[in-house]
Amino acid sequence: SKTPGKYSRVMLKISGEALMGDQGYGLHPPTVARIAQEVKSVHDMGVEICMVIGGGNIFRGLQGSAQGMERATADYMGMLATVMNALAMQAAMEALRIHTRVISAIRMDEVCEPYIRRRAIRHLEKKRVCIFAAGTGNPYFTTDTAATLRANEMNCEAIFKGTKVDGVYDKDPQKFADAQRYDNVTYDEVLQKHLGVMDASAIALARDNDLPIIVFSLDEPGGFRGILAGSGTYTRVHG
Ligand code: UDP
Repeated sequence: SKTPGKYSRVMLKISGEALMGDQGYGLHPPTVARIAQEVKSVHDMGVEICMVIGGGNIFRGLQGSAQGMERATADYMGMLATVMNALAMQAAMEALRIHTRVISAIRMDEVCEPYIRRRAIRHLEKKRVCIFAAGTGNPYFTTDTAATLRANEMNCEAIFKGTKVDGVYDKDPQKFADAQRYDNVTYDEVLQKHLGVMDASAIALARDNDLPIIVFSLDEPGGFRGILAGSGTYTRVHG
């Protein structure tokens, strides 16, 4: 696996909630623009960038099924929410003159491209940021699993999971002052200790393909670029 500063193609996974700023719902355009700027600063280094954005700021399948909706239907709504977020991010990236493609696992040809693996790879080679939308296209999955799947398919060297905190802790650092951050942690420890990195199917998929997960703070200005340049605090999840 790679040492920091040596990455040429990465997956950035962010939750939908990262786009809502201090609001309780939806999209906060200045926050979307700020994240786009963080991505641009990495793109400017020549790194090829894939992105997966969740949909939790708009709709989650579990929320719908708790209200009596069939789970699969609710999950499709969740997947559609991720397309809205992807389009918002594309607009913010293009305002910074970064070419992007939104590539959906569910066809909607008037809005974005369908997912064709070799075509997506070609976009990356041409330095277009690829935003993979609609998750895996299947209900009962999450966008963490989608990010891991696409990262494998695109031969990314790592998944960068941007969160509110600068890594993986033994307990919630926003609740416990004595929480300890891990510099390194194994996939198996994450699963056994139920450390909230990604859901279990995403962790297992990363483990089975030796794909490292770098958990870092998206709130830290310049943080994403810093890690790629070899500095900053983060947790590396690996085998
Ligand atoms: N979803 C799905 N299949 C996928 C990815 C996502 O059904 O492959 C649905 C699921 O309902 C999920 C919603 O889309 O709750 C939003 O995704 P997620 O919860 O992963 O978003 P995040 O928590 O990252 O914002």
